[in-house]
Amino acid sequence: MTTESTNHYDVAIVGGGPAGSTVASLLRKYNPALSVLIIEKEKFPREHVGESQLPGISAILDEMGVWEKVEAANFPVKIGANLTWGKAGDNWEFDFYPAEEFVDEPRPAKFEGQRRHTAFQVERAIYDDILLRHAQELGTEVREETMVAEIMREDGRITGFKLASGETITAKHYVDASGHVGLLRRAMGVESKAPKELRNVAFWDYWDNAKWKVEIGNGATRVFVRSLPFGWIWFIPLGPSRASVGLICPSEHYKDKNLPPHELYKEALEMEPDISALLADATSELKGASVHSTKNWSHLSQRLAGENWWLCGESAGFADPILAAGMTLAHNSAREVAYSILEIEGGADDAAWIRRRYDEKNRKNIDQHIRFAQYWYAANGCFTDLQDHCTAIAKDAGLKLAPKDAWRWLAQGGFANESVGHASLGSFDLNASRHLVDRFLGGEQNMKIAAFNVFKLNLRGAKKDKIGDLRDGKIIRVPCHRRGDAVLPLAGVYGNMVEILQQTSDIATIYNTVVSRMQGRVAPGAVGGAVTSYLQALEAMYIQGWVTAKLDPRKPKLEISSTTGRLIRSADAAKEALANSKASIKYN
Ligand SMILES: Cc1cc2nc3c(=O)[nH]c(=O)nc-3n(C[C@H](O)[C@H](O)[C@H](O)COP(=O)(O)OP(=O)(O)OC[C@H]3O[C@@H](n4cnc5c(N)ncnc54)[C@H](O)[C@@H]3O)c2cc1C
Repeated sequence: MTTESTNHYDVAIVGGGPAGSTVASLLRKYNPALSVLIIEKEKFPREHVGESQLPGISAILDEMGVWEKVEAANFPVKIGANLTWGKAGDNWEFDFYPAEEFVDEPRPAKFEGQRRHTAFQVERAIYDDILLRHAQELGTEVREETMVAEIMREDGRITGFKLASGETITAKHYVDASGHVGLLRRAMGVESKAPKELRNVAFWDYWDNAKWKVEIGNGATRVFVRSLPFGWIWFIPLGPSRASVGLICPSEHYKDKNLPPHELYKEALEMEPDISALLADATSELKGASVHSTKNWSHLSQRLAGENWWLCGESAGFADPILAAGMTLAHNSAREVAYSILEIEGGADDAAWIRRRYDEKNRKNIDQHIRFAQYWYAANGCFTDLQDHCTAIAKDAGLKLAPKDAWRWLAQGGFANESVGHASLGSFDLNASRHLVDRFLGGEQNMKIAAFNVFKLNLRGAKKDKIGDLRDGKIIRVPCHRRGDAVLPLAGVYGNMVEILQQTSDIATIYNTVVSRMQGRVAPGAVGGAVTSYLQALEAMYIQGWVTAKLDPRKPKLEISSTTGRLIRSADAAKEALANSKASIKYN
């Protein structure tokens, strides 16, 4: 696996953002014999929008071996978000870890305990630079200020990268991590689907001397999302007094207003009392004379892999910033590409399956995020035309539902995914999604399984198949049952649930077995969540028809009170809980 000449590599990656650095770091970590090149047109550190992460990234940073370096940069720890969103326009909070369980601990902290459930808010110039240098330290060759000018190809294969200098780079695998540019995607003629409902524009700037609304423990806080009659504002603390503040609105609104972007931005900020208060003594980097801007970012590539090429990160697709999931998608898809290449280079005899798996799984994941973003917007007053869109989504899945029902269906696992770990919906677990519906629609959405107490596996008409589970640099072939589009993994939470259901059908025994399996295995604040993830798996299995359920009046039902009630709640309830918090709390 050595180079034939200095211009030939095992893997050539265009783009040194989070996606490119993740692919390279994991390739070199698990197979240091591979020669890996990143070609990046900018000189790092370079600025980039997209600062607010989700907790799923932390485990990938740990796997890459870069957690300590990122933690040492002292980025604010994100424990959740404070939002005004939904019909009622009230103020509510969405935490990844119950704030009252969060304890003060010195930083830099290890990736353990409560920090497995938190995320970072990162200054991208610093974050992306840490990641790129890390990839370099692991032995990746990095060429900055080097532009890939042309993708050379023959039929469906790539034959080389032509650099702006005229030099040619050849490789066994070519990876597109060029972000929204989608260099390789465009060159290979891969179409990209852009939902017309998410045609939004964004205007943003960086502010110094901005306040944090709340400081939780040592350096933790929440991001702020404030909805307006015509859009919404993000407020992301990036340091003790620095914040990224942006406005998102439909392109149509921007056109109708006919105002210069910086004036529209200023007007929006002034309309929002919470944001105005946090910025009262702050100054913006561009001094109000202009703002950064971009538009039309949501898209999904119709194909993510070819014979010797792979698309990942934003080149593969992106959902709206409302989910703060862009970097999560980027890191995840990049990790998947690294594992796929590692398998093929390791001599796997099912390369076609590996490519197909990557393509299908990751497209489905991005699609879920796009749909979930549409769902969020549908829940907000100013994006009402999107409500009907939920009906269309349900129709795609063969269901005829009124908008409100379609909405519920979406949030209750209409597209629960095939991840081995847990039942999720566009980066939110199934239970969190259910509570979001409470928020958006009012009332309480009970888990469907709460109405029953006897559950039986139903594998009728299912075929045996395999899915891949990524572990320690290997794609573990996991047996699963497949029926149409529905997949039931026989590993992880689902596998355990299948095992339990083979032994018992009674909910009380199911529940007790799950609780005894969890105790001592997870952080104290996370036990409830872990148990809930099993109940969610059962819920997803029921919704997808993998279990049948009935009510035996002689047996007890399960009172499902989930910890998500502590994760999604009104701002007042959250404040009350924080009064008894184990961490020090400071409000501004
Ligand atoms: C308005 C807005 C707000 C967002 N907010 C969030 C958020 O809050 N949270 C979140 O997680 N995500 C957010 N995102 C998304 C996030 O920014 C992206 O998902 C993320 O940057 C994708 O990473 P990447 O590595 O795929 O691409 P990038 O980070 O864009 O990196 C691509 C790299 O490729 C290089 N490149 C491009 N063309 C060439 C070439 N021809 N030759 C060499 N190099 C090249 C570029 O210079 C760049 O460094 C937001 C996006 C937008 C538009």
